[in-house]
Amino acid sequence: MAEIRNILVVGAGTMGNGIAHVAAQSGYAVTLVDVASEQLERALATIRTNLERQAKKGIIAEREIDTIVGRITTSTELEKAATSADIAIEAATENMQVKRTIFQTLDAHTPAHCILATNTSSISITAIAAATTRADRVIGMHFFNPVPVMKLCEIVRGQATSQETYQATFALAQALGKTPVTVQDYPGFVSNRILMPMINEAIYCLMEGVASAEDIDTVMKLGMNHPMGPLQLADFIGLDVCLAIMEVLHEGLGDDKYRPCPLLRRMVAAGYLGRKTGRGFYSYS
Ligand code: NAD
Repeated sequence: MAEIRNILVVGAGTMGNGIAHVAAQSGYAVTLVDVASEQLERALATIRTNLERQAKKGIIAEREIDTIVGRITTSTELEKAATSADIAIEAATENMQVKRTIFQTLDAHTPAHCILATNTSSISITAIAAATTRADRVIGMHFFNPVPVMKLCEIVRGQATSQETYQATFALAQALGKTPVTVQDYPGFVSNRILMPMINEAIYCLMEGVASAEDIDTVMKLGMNHPMGPLQLADFIGLDVCLAIMEVLHEGLGDDKYRPCPLLRRMVAAGYLGRKTGRGFYSYS
């Protein structure tokens, strides 16, 4: 397996800018690609702000900021940017058709040794891999938000992922300062398979009047030592995202224990999506 020097990050939103940040901070040459050039500008500004925060906390030296940002090149032309990549980490919109198209482009334009990784939260790695001619080099790298802070990276092995690809990706996650865990390609991987049913159950408790939203969150914070209650966390993640992941678990595992709570559906139908819309289980004004 060729040494990884150039990292291509596809999608410059919440996760893409975080991945580009840690990759550049770890010394890699990074190309950050998005379809929207204003999203690339925003991503670079966010990375700089976050690096400045790290410098204030003494995590990095002030003088390193320009060097780190200088390792990041931005582009709106995926075909061109793909030609020098040793690994591509896709963090574009969570939509199968979007990812399929990106992976076909990456497959056609990256060098043969290039690993194609996806940061998807809920789409099958195996299904994405099947859209390429190099399923052995396709793998999941599931980072957590905010990427520069959160230590975990789920390394998700698809049906055809080779041992070589897995080992190189695992080692890269470590080189990025993350703690990788190995997960097989099943709906929700480990993180969302456990987290989302817990959140869904908290919503059932609220719907059935077992306790108030504040009290449900207090139970989990004070009784289980969770830093955030499940309803507060659901608001933070976005209720539409929570519902979509429950649907994936329900459909993919075929067990009714994963049925989305009717109150969750109703909140999403009402447009109460959590923090991002100013209203979810709590009000944010
Ligand atoms: P986001 O909406 O913030 O960013 C997505 C970006 O992808 C946007 O900038 C959009 O312009 C860009 N994009 C869309 N189509 C593209 C294309 N064809 N080529 C290049 N760029 C394209 O989304 P996000 O929250 O950063 O999520 C990205 C991925 O990471 C999703 O697969 C999501 O499931 C996963 N994820 C998200 C989180 C989270 O907490 N937000 C956590 C783990 C994993």
